[in-house]
Amino acid sequence: MSKVLIVADHFDGQLLSSTSKAVNCGSQISEDLDVLVLEKGSEIASQAAAIDVVKNVLSISNEAFEQPIAAIMAPVVAEVADVYDYILLPSTTFGRDLAPRISAILDVNQVTDIMSVEEPRIFKRPIYAGNAIQTIKISDGQKILATVRTASFKELGNANNANVIDTEMPSVEIPSHTRYGGVQSEKTERPDLQVASTVISGGRGVGSAENFELLYELADKLGASVGASRAAVDAGFVPNDMQVGQTGKIIAPDLYFALGISGAIQHIAGIKDAGTIVAVNKDADAPIFEIADIGIVADLFEFIPELISKLD
Ligand SMILES: Cc1cc2nc3c(=O)[nH]c(=O)nc-3n(C[C@H](O)[C@H](O)[C@H](O)COP(=O)(O)OP(=O)(O)OC[C@H]3O[C@@H](n4cnc5c(N)ncnc54)[C@H](O)[C@@H]3O)c2cc1C
Repeated sequence: MSKVLIVADHFDGQLLSSTSKAVNCGSQISEDLDVLVLEKGSEIASQAAAIDVVKNVLSISNEAFEQPIAAIMAPVVAEVADVYDYILLPSTTFGRDLAPRISAILDVNQVTDIMSVEEPRIFKRPIYAGNAIQTIKISDGQKILATVRTASFKELGNANNANVIDTEMPSVEIPSHTRYGGVQSEKTERPDLQVASTVISGGRGVGSAENFELLYELADKLGASVGASRAAVDAGFVPNDMQVGQTGKIIAPDLYFALGISGAIQHIAGIKDAGTIVAVNKDADAPIFEIADIGIVADLFEFIPELISKLD
C-alpha cells in the first residue's frame, strides 16, 4: 500500500484546519497515512493525532521550528519523506512556501493545487486562474509531492487517537542564511477569511476605507469575515491580506456576498467553491451576475442599511 505523508500547518500553538483538509485528500489516495509535525514542543502533535483516519503522527520537536521557516523545514521534510510515496501539503501560505523547496531537494516535480483525486495517481487541478480544470496523471514509480487546494476538501472529524511517534531530528544541514525577523499581521476579532462560513466582500464600488465600516457592521451582525477585491486593496480601502482571488485568498464559504464587485475572472477564481453567492451591483450587466446565485441590482449604500435593519 502507498505511504502518504502530510506536513502539518500550524500557527500560534494551533493546528490549522488546512491540515485536516490535506489529510482528507490523502485519505482518498491511501489508508497508510501519517502526519509530520515540526514544532518546538508537543502540543500540535496531539492535536494532529485526533484527526480521523491518521495512522501515525511523526513529531519532531526542535528549537529550529519555533517559527515556520520554509528554508529550515525543507531539508528535514525531504529526509523524512524518503520512505513515503506521497508528500502532501495544504496550499496555504505555509505549504506554498515549503513545497517548492522540498521539490528542489528531492528533484521531483510538484503537483500544485489538487482539487480532486480521480485515482491514486490521477488528479484534477485548476489552470488559467481557475478557468479550466486540468486532469493530470503521474507516471508509476515516481514520488508525488503535491499541494492540496483546501477549498476543495472538507475538514475531517477529530475523534481519532493516532500513535504519536517522537522522532529524532534527522542529521541534515540546516541552512543559516534565513532567520526569523518578526511577524506583522492584522489583528481582528472576526473569523479568519479562509475558514469563515460567511464572507462579505467589497470592491471598488465601496468607494473608500470609511465606507467599508458599513461592511464591517453587516459582517458583525452575521458573524462573518470581510474580504475585498484587488481593486479595493490597491485603492488602499483595506489591507492586502483581505484580498480574495487568484492572487489573494482562495475561499469556500457557505455564503458569499460580493458588494460593488464587477466579477473579473481573477476575483471569481477565489470563490469558485463558495456555496451561495449573493451579488449586489448597480450595473445589471456586471459579469458577477453570471455566476451569482442571487443577483440584486441595487446601490450597495441602500442595500446594506436595509439588510442590517431587517436583521435587527
Ligand atoms: C494577474 C492578475 C491577478 C489579479 N488578481 C486578482 C485577485 O486576486 N482578486 C481580485 O479581486 N482581482 C484580481 N485582479 C484584478 C481584476 O482583474 C479586477 O481588476 C478586479 O477584481 C476589479 O475589482 P472590482 O470588481 O472591485 O472593481 P471594478 O471592476 O471597478 O468594479 C466595481 C463594481 O462596483 C460597481 N459599483 C460601483 N458603485 C456601486 C454602488 N454604489 N453599488 C453597487 N455597485 C456599485 C460597479 O458597477 C462595478 O461593477 C487581478 C488582475 C490581474 C491582471
